[in-house]
Amino acid sequence: MTHVFHRNTHQSYPVAVAGDGPYIIAADGRRYLDASGGAAVSCLGHNATEVVEAIQKQVASLAYAHTSFFTTEPMEQLADFLIERAPAGLEYVYFVSGGSEAVEAALKLARQYFTETGQPQRRHLIARRQSYHGNTLGALATGGNAWRRAQFEPLLTQVSHLTPCYAYREQGEQESDDAFTTRLAQELEDEILRLGADEVMAFVAEPVVGATLGAVPPVPGYFRKIREVCDRYGVLLILDEVMCGMGRTGTLFAIEEDGVSPDITTIAKGLGAGYQPIGATLVSGRIYAAIAAGTGFFQHGHTYIGHATACAAALAVQQAIESRQLLSRVQVLGTALQQRLRSRLGDHPHIGDLRGRGLFQGIELVRDRTTKEPFDPALKLHARIKQAAMDEGLMCYPMGGTLDGRQGDHILLAPAFILEESHLDELVEKLERAITLALRAVKGASA
Ligand code: PMP
Repeated sequence: MTHVFHRNTHQSYPVAVAGDGPYIIAADGRRYLDASGGAAVSCLGHNATEVVEAIQKQVASLAYAHTSFFTTEPMEQLADFLIERAPAGLEYVYFVSGGSEAVEAALKLARQYFTETGQPQRRHLIARRQSYHGNTLGALATGGNAWRRAQFEPLLTQVSHLTPCYAYREQGEQESDDAFTTRLAQELEDEILRLGADEVMAFVAEPVVGATLGAVPPVPGYFRKIREVCDRYGVLLILDEVMCGMGRTGTLFAIEEDGVSPDITTIAKGLGAGYQPIGATLVSGRIYAAIAAGTGFFQHGHTYIGHATACAAALAVQQAIESRQLLSRVQVLGTALQQRLRSRLGDHPHIGDLRGRGLFQGIELVRDRTTKEPFDPALKLHARIKQAAMDEGLMCYPMGGTLDGRQGDHILLAPAFILEESHLDELVEKLERAITLALRAVKGASA
């Protein structure tokens, strides 16, 4: 019997004891190919020597120093490293312990920016349906993921949720990319005007949607139009790169490919690659300057902000990605993975959509390819695929099952950047088998 409050109280878990590159090894000796990096976290695999050494060195000299007393070298160096490579305009980094904390910091920074600059009426947030920004209350209210919100409705913070840039389901068959993105930007403008042109604080979006839909890259031009609307009304653009950032899509920040700069960006997951829990909120010089010229104090302390060991680990992770030239490898491996998925699953009668960017690939399963009708959420196809994959020795990340049935079943693939091509073959082979077995079980259950 366990005394651990496991999140899924019905499930029993293998005991993970060791890592070997992209594999996790369980106590019974079984090896699991980590095709999802856990939840898009483990981008360097599970035993990167340079990261382990950096952690050991930092712990041996100073594990932790509270940031209300001290700054530390790893924190300063990591901030420099990130800002040198961040989209133009981002100049300061606020370090926290994970993605939800980074999003909370982003929301509170946006709010404090407006209270400090004499616009306290700006308090409304706009985000998108089928999005996820974390599980703490503010971040949960911001995300539109119905399944994760359901137990807690009505949430404390009210947020408007607009149409996501999710071409497979939201773009009309005859609608051009330009018409689609113009329509979505117009929807944002209409909502800003409905709430009050000078009462909206920020628009929040994931550049490439992750933990709700597998992986959904935006249609080209979308973020430029969104940026224009935000600028027209003085609304801040907050981009949540917790999942898609830090090289996962083949560029350090996913938004680089879309050519816009946000006012605030959140990162986590791949920042520390799982070696230490760490997240960060990157902020424009303008927002920082407003707070510095006002109270001079961001009212948002956590005990572990800027944790020295976590910063040392993240710096070693990011330096390894750069020195091993892994961003270009992500682009090459991403294309190779996509090709394999298309050739093995592209014509599958229950695969509705294959999509992604870099090593961030999503698979959407449907009951009917023509009508795009999803499977009954009660069948939990995504969860069955996860279990069947684990039985095959493969980790993939399932999503789905909203109460309104709109969300459908999705699988996210987000493997480590250090994979060899042979791992891709193993991945796709095991995944195909898991999908076949899960579909067989679902059809048996619904027959
Ligand atoms: N934002 C996004 C886009 C995420 O994918 C996640 C985690 N899946 C979070 C925020 C929350 O991060 P964490 O689980 O580290 O709190």
